[in-house]
Amino acid sequence: MPTPPPTRAEVVVVGAGVIGLTTAVVLSSAGWRTEVWTADDPAETPSARAAAVWTPTPHAPLQTSLTWAARSLQEFCGLSRVPDSGVTLAEGLTLTASDTSGHLPALTRLSPDLRDAARDELPAGFTAGLRYRLPLIDMDRYVPWLLQRLDTTGGRLRQQRVATLAEPLAAAPVVVNASGLGARDLTPDPTVRPVFSQYVVTDNPGLDRVVVDTTDSRRWVSVVPHRDRVHLGGVRVTGRDDERPDRELASDVLRRCRELEPALVDARVRRIDAGLLPSRPTMRLEIENLAAGRVVHAYGHASGGVTASWGAAHAVAALVGVPPGP
Ligand SMILES: Cc1cc2nc3c(=O)[nH]c(=O)nc-3n(C[C@H](O)[C@H](O)[C@H](O)COP(=O)(O)OP(=O)(O)OC[C@H]3O[C@@H](n4cnc5c(N)ncnc54)[C@H](O)[C@@H]3O)c2cc1C
Repeated sequence: MPTPPPTRAEVVVVGAGVIGLTTAVVLSSAGWRTEVWTADDPAETPSARAAAVWTPTPHAPLQTSLTWAARSLQEFCGLSRVPDSGVTLAEGLTLTASDTSGHLPALTRLSPDLRDAARDELPAGFTAGLRYRLPLIDMDRYVPWLLQRLDTTGGRLRQQRVATLAEPLAAAPVVVNASGLGARDLTPDPTVRPVFSQYVVTDNPGLDRVVVDTTDSRRWVSVVPHRDRVHLGGVRVTGRDDERPDRELASDVLRRCRELEPALVDARVRRIDAGLLPSRPTMRLEIENLAAGRVVHAYGHASGGVTASWGAAHAVAALVGVPPGP
């Protein structure tokens, strides 16, 4: 018997970063025949190099940022009970220059079990801080888990760079543009700008708590432990369009993190993870109806793509389901 032709996709998601993959999982789970087209291997995207912590920091529009972070928190808390998802709930300590209690932004107040740190919980030399719990997302395990979810729900992945959105629109009536920094050329959108971000990755000497030092607001550092390794971060350079690791900045971060967590002094440095964040004045979530079909734009999540991911994915799915306009 002749093999039937492959069924046409109903949605093509361009991009296999955390935004594209999460959106594809949500769409595929809801019954849409979904394909993901990506220029890069999903294990090689900036998302795959994320530290990655659910971090309630504001991105414009603020109310959207709040709603999406809350939705993701709910999903990640559920995933922390799913074996192999790579998601765990960890203790967190943010060191602050002064006592912040009483005037915390709504986003910060989303953090589970948030309270002021007691004096004896602060490292030497620090006078104020916040304690909370938060989801930690080990991208080395989470990206494969998302791909597995996509596969089990019937979604397909295809490694293909697209030059224009007309290409995926020829394959499906709806296209989700989750191309991150790629949206600069693909949309095209000149308001998308790169922000260089970098983390030093070391062996884990037994740490299980996230520590963030914000006492110098221009040079914060963070210690993010996963099962076998620790990500030490704090580097952001706006407009730097070069993914090569910066060794000078890495030495400074390593020194400051070792002061914060002395157990790191003998930890072997494994690598430096650097990537370009897709920054934009506002995160874009918008329908564009073209003659060839509908595009839902979903990019510009800057340093908060993991934090926004589940909220953004459900918001995109709601737009994909909207009947076509006039
Ligand atoms: C070092 C580092 C640490 C981070 N830590 C955190 C953290 O702790 N918490 C947090 O919330 N966020 C964190 N982030 C930020 C987060 O990773 C980003 O917000 C997120 O990666 C954005 O995801 P994205 O899916 O939009 O884009 P990307 O991950 O950049 O993926 C873009 C996708 O689009 C594809 N693409 C682009 N152009 C084309 C084209 N023309 N054709 C086909 N495919 C195309 C690419 O191949 C890729 O698959 C971190 C990022 C870095 C780099």
